[in-house]
Amino acid sequence: MSKLACECGAILSDVGQEDSDKYWGVIYPCGEENSAREKASQQIQSLVNAFVSGEVSKWLEEYFGKDYPSDMELAGCVSDILQVCYQEKGLAYGRCHQCRSVLIQSERDSSLYNNYAPSSKSSVGI
Ligand SMILES: [Zn+2]
Repeated sequence: MSKLACECGAILSDVGQEDSDKYWGVIYPCGEENSAREKASQQIQSLVNAFVSGEVSKWLEEYFGKDYPSDMELAGCVSDILQVCYQEKGLAYGRCHQCRSVLIQSERDSSLYNNYAPSSKSSVGI
């Protein structure tokens, strides 16, 4: 997602804004987050096994494709594995910098976002 139009008229953009990390994120239902973590753990273990057996380049090509850099450090590979496993599980959201509404992706892979405006009252956990 690069731009969203909020109901207040503001444009939310994740490109070119210095502090965009403060306004964009991903929501994971607990089951989806657990599934992503388990899948990532298995993939990282597989990468470690490939490292031990000296077959990291082959593993990287099979997992990420031929264009993936074969000289990537393991930490970067792990980060990319996490990104792959998690990005297919969550719903993206953006928070409006003007009215503080939250726009949540209606479904995974959808370009439709539902707008949730803050109420005048805050809720407190009980
Ligand atoms: Zn707004």
